[in-house]
This record gives sequence, structure tokens and C-alpha cells, in this order.
Amino acid sequence: MDLMRAARLHIPSRTLTIEDVPRPVPGPWQVLVKVAAAGVCMSDVHLIDGTLGRPRHLLDDTVTIGHEVAGTIVELGPEVSDWREGQRVVLQAGENRDGETYTRGVDYDGGWAEYTVAAMDSVFALPDSIPFEQAAIIPDAVSTPWGAIVHTGEVRPAEAAGVWGVGGLGAHAVQVLRAVGAYPIVAVDPVPAARERALALGADLALDPRDRTIKDQVLFLTRGAGLNAAFDFAGSSSVYDQALSVLGPEGRLVIVGLSGRPLTIRDSTTFSYMKHRIIGHFGSTAEVVPQLVDLVENGRLDFSRSITDVLPLAKASVAVQRMHTKEGNPLRLILQP
Ligand SMILES: [Zn+2]
Repeated sequence: MDLMRAARLHIPSRTLTIEDVPRPVPGPWQVLVKVAAAGVCMSDVHLIDGTLGRPRHLLDDTVTIGHEVAGTIVELGPEVSDWREGQRVVLQAGENRDGETYTRGVDYDGGWAEYTVAAMDSVFALPDSIPFEQAAIIPDAVSTPWGAIVHTGEVRPAEAAGVWGVGGLGAHAVQVLRAVGAYPIVAVDPVPAARERALALGADLALDPRDRTIKDQVLFLTRGAGLNAAFDFAGSSSVYDQALSVLGPEGRLVIVGLSGRPLTIRDSTTFSYMKHRIIGHFGSTAEVVPQLVDLVENGRLDFSRSITDVLPLAKASVAVQRMHTKEGNPLRLILQP
């Protein structure tokens, strides 16, 4: 039996260890992918620190983490057509099974490993022009904000939009809002370096959430109209009140950050009077990843500034710690098996 290295999370004790485990064998309609790059996401951090509860569909107590994965196909399972060994691919962050969403690296083994298996309809061809590191973050770090903005939030050109939390997902949300023609784009983050980054990536205004003039500044910039859409990537309940306070009539608040905490509306009368809406968002639909690959390949979007650092798989715990402490204000860290 061939072995491989993998970063395994024991869910009951929330301990992450690098282990030698059997190299997976692709089953029917599956391919084996040699992982070239895997993103480290705040949701990985939250799975490890226990903020996220026990995975809904995980059968075992231990799982190989990693849902942002790119690599090369090295073996085809039975019944696989249209793919060949040696093809560069990017993997969807999850799979649909019997109408339910299974998240890679959460509900089943993911890509913080030398090899991973994937259903053949959850892999997409990757052009040579896109480096593995940038491709790996398209599923989730880019596709989730895209889904939140384009599908759930239905942002139209010239609409005013706000992004709370300009970390890995929020920074890409600013770029996506720019790409779909939103104006103005307001970014809110307590970290000065994150605000600077938001401005560099296309935000029109970047504010500290503790700034008491936030409402005045947003109303001034939108000529009194307020925001059409607000996106929470921070997963913080304090965001909800602040975002609702600057939403215009019929504005929608899209909640992407997972906090596990109750969702409360402080002023329900204003909420009804303004016809506000709060909408939950998770992941993206299957066609988004190949669409984004096309947009990157053809120069409509550029994520070359998104990779803060590349670390070997053995340093997975170091990467998680850096995301947790936000040391060096990382946008995305990549693990390389
Ligand atoms: Zn992620």
C-alpha cells in the first residue's frame, strides 16, 4: 500500500497532525489528483479551533483538511471519460450528493495532502497561463464572494455596496464588485493594512468599524441613498447592526461569514419600514469556478496579488496560526505538499 503525507484534523480533540496515510485510490467516476497548491482559509482555522461545529456529513472522527485545491490528474478511476493523466485541474470546493452539499476537507477528505480524490464532475481544466497557487484559491476564496455578490446579492451595475471584513474573501469581494460595475464600494475593517489593501484593490472608501462617522460618510458618498447591498465576511454580530444602519430602502444584507452565533435585529421596526432583507449565503453553484477560470485567463480578473506566502505542507499548523493571529496581514497562504 502506498502512503502519502496529509494534514489530518481529529474533530473531537481538534488536533491537527501531519500523518502518513494510505494514498487514496480513485473509485468509479473519480480521479486521483497530485496536489500542487492548497489554500488556507479562515473556515479551516474555524474548523480547527472549534468555532465550526462537527461536520454534518463526516462519517469518521478525522478528516484531511483543505477545500481550495489545484493540481494534476495522475490516475483515472473506472468509468472516467474526458480526462487524462497529466491534465492540470482546479477542484470544486464541494460536491453535490443526493441533493446535499458536501464540503471538501470538511465532510470528506480534502487537499492538505500529497494526493486527493475528486469526483470527475468536480474538477475543471486549468489553462497553463494560471499558476497553481492562484488557481487553488478560485474555489471558495473567489467563488464564494462571486456567488454572494452576483447570485445571492444580485448586485447590479452602479449599485452601492459595502464589504465588512476585508480578509481573504472580502478582498476578492471588492475586486468582484469592481468587475460587476458597483459604485461606490465601501470597505469596512478594523485593521489599517486591510483598509489600505481594500483601496488598492478598488474600494472607493475604506472605514474603521469603530469610526462613529461611518453612517454620515456612507450617506454622503451615496448622496443620502445608503447602500443597496452589504456583505458580511467578518462573521461578527456587531457587523449586522452597523450594516443595517447604512442600508438604503429595500437594501439587502448578505451574510457570508459563519459565526455560529444568534442573528439579532436591534430595531425591527426600522427593518420592516425600510423593507430590508437579510439573506444567508454559502459557497457557489457549480458553474462559477470554470467561469472564473475563464475570466482570469482572459484578463478580466487578476488574483496575482492574493498570495501572501507559500509554505510546505509540514508547516500547516504554522500557516493556521498565522491566519489566526493575522500576523503580516495575510490575504491567502498556500500549502505546497
Ligand atoms: Zn475557503
